[in-house]
Amino acid sequence: MLCIVVHGGAKTISEEKVEANHAGCTAAAEAGWAVLISGGTAAESVEAAIRVFETDQTFNAGFGATLNSDGEVELDAAIMEGSLCWGGVAAVQGVRHPISVARKIMDDKPRLLVAEGAKRFATECGAEMCRKEALVADEQKQQWKEDQKVSDRPNTVVCVALDKSGTLVAGTSTGGTTHQQAGRVGDSAVVGCGLYADGKIGACSTTGNGESIIPVVLAKTAIDFLNGDRHPEEAAQMAIAALKSKVEGEAGCIILG
Ligand code: ASP
Repeated sequence: MLCIVVHGGAKTISEEKVEANHAGCTAAAEAGWAVLISGGTAAESVEAAIRVFETDQTFNAGFGATLNSDGEVELDAAIMEGSLCWGGVAAVQGVRHPISVARKIMDDKPRLLVAEGAKRFATECGAEMCRKEALVADEQKQQWKEDQKVSDRPNTVVCVALDKSGTLVAGTSTGGTTHQQAGRVGDSAVVGCGLYADGKIGACSTTGNGESIIPVVLAKTAIDFLNGDRHPEEAAQMAIAALKSKVEGEAGCIILG
């Protein structure tokens, strides 16, 4: 059995953006699916799907991501395989596809690299680099100027996939929250919070307010709810209910059992 699920982010969208959101999610899922059906791995599939999101300014990842308090794009991304191997980057600038850098880190040795160190690693391993300004979309710049007081508007893109070898993978990529303090890192690159994958049990990726997701360790909590063969949908609902019972804030998750 092969499977891929993508999520374009927990956010309220205006009517005129619905179509672009649907089209972007479909394109991402199709890119990941094409990898799976041609025999690629779940990690390759998740990377391919998230790269599509990272080039589409409809979504808060890569080009067109939301701007921080300095009006700049700072990106977080991570990937985790059921083998418990993982890699992540946070607060990185000038990298077009942070998910690909996260995957290179996973394949090298698991760790979370941040800011300049992450950028240096990305450069050294041949990732597509750019000026940090090149990731700022006009619409975001405009919104940033108009919306100085808006903050905490989340919408990470996430993906989970299962390949023919039975390997499960979870991935995330985000620009964080609108007007976040420069240097702030949310849940998305933090294993157990923004993503989790465990062998034959399941894979989960989350989106929402990092400050709420982190204290309830949402992705790992959701995977634990899969124990006893619980259906992923029920596990997802229980995880979100657990979050709501303990903290303020909103979140969503996708789970593959
Ligand atoms: N979870 C992300 C963060 O807090 C935001 C998001 O989902 O967009 O950084």
